[in-house]
Amino acid sequence: QNKKEKYDFMFKIVLVGFFEVGKTQILSRFCDNQFTDEYEQTIGAAFKTKTIEIEGKIIKLQLWDISGPERFRTITPMYFRGAKRFLVYDITNQDSLRNINGYWMEKIKEVTNENLQMILIGNKNDLEEKRIISKEKGKEFADKLQIPFYEISVKNNINIDDAFYHLTTNILENI
Ligand code: GDP
Ligand code: MG
Repeated sequence: QNKKEKYDFMFKIVLVGFFEVGKTQILSRFCDNQFTDEYEQTIGAAFKTKTIEIEGKIIKLQLWDISGPERFRTITPMYFRGAKRFLVYDITNQDSLRNINGYWMEKIKEVTNENLQMILIGNKNDLEEKRIISKEKGKEFADKLQIPFYEISVKNNINIDDAFYHLTTNILENI
């Protein structure tokens, strides 16, 4: 470890969710403070890192962005081992919440039975006029899973840091 790399903890977090919910943009915003309206398809898996400080502890987050399960079914499971999850849906897309409730919840159960920390994220809340999923609906689903819930906007940079800090604080409290 060189000086720049010094940290107290390293946590691995995987962003999961339907295509185009904003996973790639969440990481660009959180790690590089960048956002684009262009859609660049993610191929395979990639990660970014960000080091944050909570209660005097230096924490390095390794954030994984994995692309659609349809094409990478076989490689997906290994990304979950020991990873916390950032479950993302898009408030303008009904299928994206169904996808979390169905596909991803099953997938997570298949890979691990550890009760690892998760957070539910409804993205794109700047698109109020296109909203399909109410905030109450998102909250209700998160309550059922007993996990925290945030609506965010990557575009307007709303609540992204709060969501990552909340999840990281929960992880810290459970080690
Ligand atoms: P991914 O497939 O989950 O990685 O989704 P991307 O991060 O590539 O985003 C898909 C599309 O949604 C892109 O065109 C983004 O610009 C757009 N997008 C992402 N986040 C937001 C947001 O908060 N608000 C709006 N309006 N568009 C967003
Ligand atoms: Mg992507």
